[in-house]
Amino acid sequence: VRKFCVGGNWKMNGDKAAIAEICKSLSGAALDSNTEVVVGCPALYVIYARGLLPNTISVAGQNAYKVAKGAFTGEVSPAMLKDAGADWVILGHSERRQIFKESDELIGEKCAHALAEGLKVIACIGETLEEREAGKTEEVVFRQTGVLSKHIKDWSNVVLAYEPVWAIGTGKTATPQQAQEVHAALRQWLTKNISQAVSDSLRIQYGGSVTAANCRELASQPDIDGFLVGGASLKPEFIDIVNAKK
Ligand code: 13P
Repeated sequence: VRKFCVGGNWKMNGDKAAIAEICKSLSGAALDSNTEVVVGCPALYVIYARGLLPNTISVAGQNAYKVAKGAFTGEVSPAMLKDAGADWVILGHSERRQIFKESDELIGEKCAHALAEGLKVIACIGETLEEREAGKTEEVVFRQTGVLSKHIKDWSNVVLAYEPVWAIGTGKTATPQQAQEVHAALRQWLTKNISQAVSDSLRIQYGGSVTAANCRELASQPDIDGFLVGGASLKPEFIDIVNAKK
């Protein structure tokens, strides 16, 4: 069985005061103990958030470079995130892919290095609106997952996040049927191209305008194993999303 896993992705939001407030609200909340909870924090605040959260909530970085250290001005390594108290890192988010032009290959390399350094990885994939309308959704997510699979040999510390780009920050959530269809197709792809064991055990999160109002129906789909939540993860509503299965 796959443990339900809900990640918050704070993106480039918050300051010390706002993060303290979010951490306080999460610390006092009754969270479903059957759900794994991770918050994706700006790298600068990882130490701070880690100090304010209970041990039952993990902290993730939102990006990390593909090597441990060196002359890479402005970058942060998985070893640094770990040292600061993060257990996870989000890699390949569509904003990294689109705004910062990260390639499938670079994301694969980043995943391999983060895993080698002992971080768990939330690896993000997803099609644009243009790709969906051209009927290329499966082609795109299979390609993205295929490149990941060249770099990831052990999937036990990986969560895959399916985040259709057209649903991110738009208020246009994929319908439970649309999301389930892609998740099921991904699982078939994993069976065929990796193994039945990975297909059965890999958790696939859905991300894109998840809210307290739509999370329960999404969570009831057989192949949706959690969420990656952007905007709503900055609000008390995140607690209801964590408890979507309760
Ligand atoms: P929203 O929940 O704000 O649509 O963002 C989703 C996302 O990008 C999570 O990584």
